[in-house]
Amino acid sequence: HAKNAGRGQACLFEAAMDETAQARRVLERELAEALSQGSFELHYQPLVDLGSDRVTGLEALVRWRHPELGLVSPATFIPVAEETGLIVGLGAWVLNQACRDAAAWPADVKVAVNVSAVQLRHRTFAQVVLLALAASGLRPERLELEITESVLLDDTEANLETLHLLRRAGIRISMDDFGTGYSSLSYLRRFPFDKIKIDRSFVKDAGQATEAGAIIRALVGLGGSLGITTVVEGVETEAQLAAVRAEGCQEMQGFLFSPPRPIGEIRQMLAERDRTTKAA
Ligand code: C2E
Ligand code: MG
Ligand code: MG
Ligand code: MG
Repeated sequence: HAKNAGRGQACLFEAAMDETAQARRVLERELAEALSQGSFELHYQPLVDLGSDRVTGLEALVRWRHPELGLVSPATFIPVAEETGLIVGLGAWVLNQACRDAAAWPADVKVAVNVSAVQLRHRTFAQVVLLALAASGLRPERLELEITESVLLDDTEANLETLHLLRRAGIRISMDDFGTGYSSLSYLRRFPFDKIKIDRSFVKDAGQATEAGAIIRALVGLGGSLGITTVVEGVETEAQLAAVRAEGCQEMQGFLFSPPRPIGEIRQMLAERDRTTKAA
C-alpha cells in the first residue's frame, strides 16, 4: 500500500518534471525567436553625481516584450540566455543599441552596459564592442562595461586580457554588485577598475550606523586611494541618500531618483536636465 503511494508520487513528480522541462524548452525557443523578431528593448536608469546632483550616466537594462506575459525581467531570462549561449547574440544587440542610443545624448552622459561571463569569455567579444562603437560613432570614453565580480572567478587570465585590451581602447570598466562575491579585494589588485558599484544589499540599512555603513565608508576610502569612483546602487529613501552622501560616495543609482525608464522618457529627462541647467 505504502509502496503504491510512493510509486504514485514518483509518477506525479516525473510528470511535473516533464512539464518543467517542456516549459523550459518553450522559453528557450521563444527567447531565440525574440532576438530575431526584435522583441527586446532597453530601459535606462540614471547614475547621479552626488557632487553636482546631475545625471552623468545611464545604465542599459534589457527587457523582453512578450506577447502574453508583457514586459519580462532580465532576472528571468538572462540566466537561460547564458545557458543556451543566446546571450552572445543578445549581448551584441544590447551593445549596439545602447551605443546608438547614447550617441544621441549630450556628450557628458555615459552609457553603462552589463556584460555576463559567457559574453566576456567569447572570442569575438572585444571585436563586438569595438564594432558597436565604430558603427555608432560613440567615443569609447562614454562606454562603461559592468562586470560582476563572479565573472572573474573563472578563465581569469583570458578575461583580464580582454578587459585590458578594451580599457586601453579608452572604454571604462566597472565592477558591478561589489561585495556579493568572494575575492573582491584581490580583483581590485589584479585589474584597474574605473568604478565600483557597491551592491544594494549594503545600502538597505546604511542609515542606521550598522556594519553596512562602515563597509561603505571603508570602500569609499579604498576607492579614493586607488583612484576608483564609488557608486552605491539601490538607494530608495532620503535617509539612505543622506547616509550615502555622508560616507563620501561619489555617485548613486536607485528608485529614489528614478527607476529604469524607456528611451522616450529618458530623452525627455535629458532635455529637461539641460533646459534647467541653461536657465540656471
Ligand atoms: P544590475 O546590473 O545590478 O542592475 C541593477 C538592478 O537593480 C536592475 O534590475 C534595477 O532595476 C534594480 N534597481 C535599481 N535601483 C533599485 C532600487 O532602488 N531598489 C531595488 N530594489 N532595485 C533597484 P533589473 O533591470 O531587473 O536587472 C537585473 C539584473 O539583470 C542586472 O543587475 C544585470 O545583472 C542583469 N541584466 C540586465 N540587463 C542586462 C544585459 O543587457 N546584459 C546582461 N548580461 N545582464 C543584464
Ligand atoms: Mg549593472
Ligand atoms: Mg548591480
Ligand atoms: Mg547584477
